[in-house]
Amino acid sequence: MTDSVALVKQFDNMRAFMMKVMEENRQLKHRCEVFEASEKRFTETITKQSEAYEETIREAEFTIEELETKLSDKDKYEETIRVLQTKIASQHQEFHFAIVDKDKKIAELEKKVNRKAYEKKYKEQNKDKIKKQNKEYKEKNKEVIKSKGAEIVNCPCGKTHRYDNTRRHKMSAFHQKWLAGHSETQTSP
Ligand SMILES: [Zn+2]
Repeated sequence: MTDSVALVKQFDNMRAFMMKVMEENRQLKHRCEVFEASEKRFTETITKQSEAYEETIREAEFTIEELETKLSDKDKYEETIRVLQTKIASQHQEFHFAIVDKDKKIAELEKKVNRKAYEKKYKEQNKDKIKKQNKEYKEKNKEVIKSKGAEIVNCPCGKTHRYDNTRRHKMSAFHQKWLAGHSETQTSP
């Protein structure tokens, strides 16, 4: 009687442990999703790792349910639970370390994503206000904008162009050719 009570308690502990791990996993995965596009390779690694130990957890749940229906061979159960728990713990640790390793980067990207979302929302909600402000700014700074546009810029490619032609110059064949040659000679870290 005492034995089976102890065993059931062990099962319960194991379940609580698995649920804790699953919840942590869910949160970590959510953090990874934030920068899926910018860090695809990293996300793939993380996804593989988290899927691997979620698979172990499912296996453990199945095993526990199986064992619970036949509470007779206590030693065997204890060993099985111990093995599963160790496996889950080590897989979880690997996953956790991978996240911690990239934590700073994740935080930076999260910030960036949040800022972008905020800016987008702000722009959508304040369309008229922004339009009016832009118009006012242009009106007020007409002369400055005009003279700024006429300023001559010395591009590092060797050409000169009017400030308000910057975009067009950057797209020009000459500048693009220079840029391609320039980036070839640069050694990236
Ligand atoms: Zn140029």
